[in-house]
Amino acid sequence: MRNILKLGKHAFFAFLIGLLVLLPYITLINTDLHEKAHLKFYKKYEVCGTYSANYLTAIPDFYVKAFKGPTALGKATFCNNISKEKYLSLDSSAKKEINLAGINSDIIFSRVLIIAAIFFASASIAVIIGIKESYQKQIALIYLSFIILWLLVIVFSTEVNILFNLNIQGGDLQLLLHLIECGKNCTGM
Ligand SMILES: [Zn+2]
Repeated sequence: MRNILKLGKHAFFAFLIGLLVLLPYITLINTDLHEKAHLKFYKKYEVCGTYSANYLTAIPDFYVKAFKGPTALGKATFCNNISKEKYLSLDSSAKKEINLAGINSDIIFSRVLIIAAIFFASASIAVIIGIKESYQKQIALIYLSFIILWLLVIVFSTEVNILFNLNIQGGDLQLLLHLIECGKNCTGM
């Protein structure tokens, strides 16, 4: 019993450190895919945009920004004012494609994570059921519980970012609605 408790403690610290490192990188990969999805459609409509991800400072960047609420670790920007004007002059369907590309990318990313989590949990449970020795079974269960907890936290954080992006002023959806509303009279974003 004492051994199991000790092991549980070790597994908990491994879980915590792993989570603190993993969360910024998962968020950065999500941001990367999101912004590149926007850029793909910028290109389609010949709007110049740039985006660069910084993998070296991902961990401090993430925790500094996390204090201010859910946020992305970067943003695609227009190359210059001419590109911004060109984006503003596009028709609504083009703006819709550009803005929704990021939201679609987030939803796909979150679905892949959920499917991977379900697949991993089912496969692990099947393996654990097959373990005959009870001590080994307990160890496997401890590790599995923490890994499933990891996956849940990561999925939850991705969902929070999606909701944040949909609801915040200046987020992809609210910006799109604003631009459609002001139509040709839009002078800024
Ligand atoms: Zn976006």
